Amino acid sequence: MIKEIEIVCPPGQQEDEGALIKIAATALNISPQKISALKILKRSIDARGRRVVYRMQVQVFMDELYVPETFTVKYPDVKTAKPVIIIGAGPAGLFAALQCIELGLKPIIVERGKDVKQRRRDLANINKQGLVNPESNYCFGEGGAGTYSDGKLYTRSTKRGDVNAVLKTFVAHGATEDILIDARPHIGTNKLPQIITSIKDSIVNAGGEVLFDAKVISLLVEFGKIKGVELANGQKIMADAVILATGHSARDIFEMLHHQNILIEAKPFALGVRIEHPQEIIDQAQYHCEFRGPDLPPSYYNLVEQVENRGVFSFCMCPGGIITPCATEAEEIVVNGWSPSKRNNPFANSGTVVQINSEDVKGDMNDPLRMLRFQQEIEKLAFKAGGGNLVAPGQRMIDFVENRISKDLPENSYLPGTKSVELKEILPGWINERLRKALPAFGRKMKGYYTNEAILVGVESRTSSPVKVPRDKETLQHPQVTGLFPCGEGAGYAGGIISAAIDGINCAIAASKI
Ligand SMILES: Cc1cc2nc3c(=O)[nH]c(=O)nc-3n(C[C@H](O)[C@H](O)[C@H](O)COP(=O)(O)OP(=O)(O)OC[C@H]3O[C@@H](n4cnc5c(N)ncnc54)[C@H](O)[C@@H]3O)c2cc1C
Repeated sequence: MIKEIEIVCPPGQQEDEGALIKIAATALNISPQKISALKILKRSIDARGRRVVYRMQVQVFMDELYVPETFTVKYPDVKTAKPVIIIGAGPAGLFAALQCIELGLKPIIVERGKDVKQRRRDLANINKQGLVNPESNYCFGEGGAGTYSDGKLYTRSTKRGDVNAVLKTFVAHGATEDILIDARPHIGTNKLPQIITSIKDSIVNAGGEVLFDAKVISLLVEFGKIKGVELANGQKIMADAVILATGHSARDIFEMLHHQNILIEAKPFALGVRIEHPQEIIDQAQYHCEFRGPDLPPSYYNLVEQVENRGVFSFCMCPGGIITPCATEAEEIVVNGWSPSKRNNPFANSGTVVQINSEDVKGDMNDPLRMLRFQQEIEKLAFKAGGGNLVAPGQRMIDFVENRISKDLPENSYLPGTKSVELKEILPGWINERLRKALPAFGRKMKGYYTNEAILVGVESRTSSPVKVPRDKETLQHPQVTGLFPCGEGAGYAGGIISAAIDGINCAIAASKI
């Protein structure tokens, strides 16, 4: 017999099968010997009460054999199959490619950046010398922005596709099975690169192609139908279906579409700063304790406040994380965050951003690149304020709210360095004022949050795409170009790794129908 129940255990026992069996046996009023196995279906930390506990949904096997699921992948050979071009090797592009293979199509991924290994050198140059290679950075290269991301895998896009199938594909390519049960699954930046490489290997071994240093500069369109793409080296690659999965930072792609008279639209996004606290402040607040101890993971938070009709919210929170420079061009500053799988850095950071609506930004309302220019302008201001070499402008939290420059800045994780600056010199007044009002309000919700030990680092500007590439709801094709499938975060249909992967899968399915 198999029974599904919820059990609760204290921290420290969550991975101790013997202890969990005893708890389940007590809950079912049976002897532990009757339980042959226990399978955890879902696991979460409940820190609402005074005592922090793990809650688990489990299947209890009583006198019943439990055969653990195995996670392997076997793809058909598509070497000589009909080609589909996929621009961009981010999560959207990679999962589109795997789906193409499953559907008997040959994916040809064209990626402007380098493979994971070579890309690492460019990241070292960014962190140590403040030098950004516009073709190879935290956003561009094998695995896209996903490779050196934090690798949190939760999403609100559960209705758009099979989240579990995506998670299982990650497991089949090397991720731990924990991601299938944790309420807040996380891979970690140290583990993602190998997983991404393994996915690329699956694509290539099945007969797909992955071309690096292959930057698309033009779409080949004839009589409203896609015919292929042209690369920066002059090479032309032909196919009847092109999946455009170039991410939110490929500004030249948006320029290219506009220049080719392919309809794009300005899109609202959110902008603000990254905020970093000592991790122990967050742990004390969330776990109501002096010290977290070894049995609980570094804690997270999720904060939101409405200020003058705009949402101000924390975003991409990285416990035990690092603030990272994510610019894709010289002379701009963009910050984001990541953490290793153990989340064992002493700081906690999150993007803290204000929702921007279309009417907030001045300029020609008919210009689809209006929001993009606004984003770019602020990133350039941040670079200037930092004084170069990717040094980022920073300000202590209470100093920011009370409008005074910080005498010094706290130790922080941003490797190129931070400079004390009044952030109101960079942020537009209507963003600045909302952030100023939201931070003390966050402090009222979370004890210890509102502190001058926290630093604000500017600017968190690539929260989502500032441009939308329209597509038909049913066919997922661009309304003007048959066979062109705008896909993933850059086109405005995803926000994060899982939703980008799901959108890639959906676009591949749509591409198989033409
Ligand atoms: C530091 C950091 C941390 C993050 N943490 C998380 C997290 O914890 N959880 C989460 O869900 N999300 C996270 N994200 C966001 C996540 O990485 C993105 O949402 C996701 O990667 C978007 O996938 P995508 O495939 O749509 O686009 P991208 O990943 O941006 O991939 C686009 C690809 O297209 C390529 N490309 C662009 N232009 C061209 C061209 N002209 N020719 C050829 N190729 C081109 C790029 O080089 C890139 O590889 C993080 C991002 C960063 C930078």
